Amino acid sequence: MPQDFERRWSELNARLLQIEQSAGLAAALAELQSHQRQSGFIKDRLDDVERHSFHHPDDPSKILRAQYNPKRALRFGGSGARRTPSDGPVRNDGCYLCRDNIQWQQQGAQLGYDIRVGDNAYVALMNPFPLLPGHVVIALRDHRSQDWLYQDGGGLEVSALLHDLVALANRMPGYVGFYNGVDAGASIPGHLHFQFFRRPEGEPDFPLERAARHDRAVNGHAELAGDYPLPVALWKGEPEDVVARASAWVSSWGDDNKARLNGLTANFIAAREADGENVTLYFVPRDRARPRGKGLSGLIGGLEVLGEIVLSCPEEKGRLDAGLIDYFALEDALASVGTPFFVE
Ligand SMILES: [Zn+2]
Repeated sequence: MPQDFERRWSELNARLLQIEQSAGLAAALAELQSHQRQSGFIKDRLDDVERHSFHHPDDPSKILRAQYNPKRALRFGGSGARRTPSDGPVRNDGCYLCRDNIQWQQQGAQLGYDIRVGDNAYVALMNPFPLLPGHVVIALRDHRSQDWLYQDGGGLEVSALLHDLVALANRMPGYVGFYNGVDAGASIPGHLHFQFFRRPEGEPDFPLERAARHDRAVNGHAELAGDYPLPVALWKGEPEDVVARASAWVSSWGDDNKARLNGLTANFIAAREADGENVTLYFVPRDRARPRGKGLSGLIGGLEVLGEIVLSCPEEKGRLDAGLIDYFALEDALASVGTPFFVE
């Protein structure tokens, strides 16, 4: 089985690389998605997902969304596979993003696409229970912590993290990508990964992106989105320039917040603009003690920070159907996980 897995992985990768070289990374990932549907690994086609938009009653330009997605809780569940001795060792407690585990956990149904970003090797893996179309996890090939360097014990350099996130976003027009810090929505904190999904048809912009188009204030080399439930800093421009400005600003922000930094985490979101020239990068600082929004059961991660709150339990579905979830309930939930950029 391991040899067969390696052979099928290599064959698929050769085919996807050809597609990437002629039509780009997004086209290669679309083909990976179609392959993973046929193999049976992708178990949900978003048929059960309901999406709703809620406008502020006094200002219809302000909008937040909710999606009801009962499968969310199953996202990273294995398929109940039994290992056999020939399957090789269990790595890192069976981490779902380590390739050696994928082979036996998914019984060969899951294959990934190897992607190089600068000096780093990543693997693109489709999400079996997508939150939006084309939902893909892009995981570092090596098992390394998701945490950033501000946590005791160290972690990822922010500039390296932002470089790879922005470089991937720049290669994937039509997608939005994010990094969820530990206690800010990261579902597998032990293994660095980004998530990307295609912009939904008909509603391509997310509420955060709409809000960030107006009411911006400039603070040093960052723009701060004005009218949004969460504090948001953003940078827009050519990819390398965005990474340089954002890295410098976050580093200086870290210096200013030394006393409380160990209790903070973050969401970073990146997307290539429709103009094809620029990318936009968003930074939302988070309090590690508040991973969940007030009144909601799920973790608040990058999709929620973008303004689309995922509801997954039957009780929340009941509230949605009863009209008890409105703009203000979503605004409160988002605001409850925020932390200001600077405190006195
Ligand atoms: Zn791992």
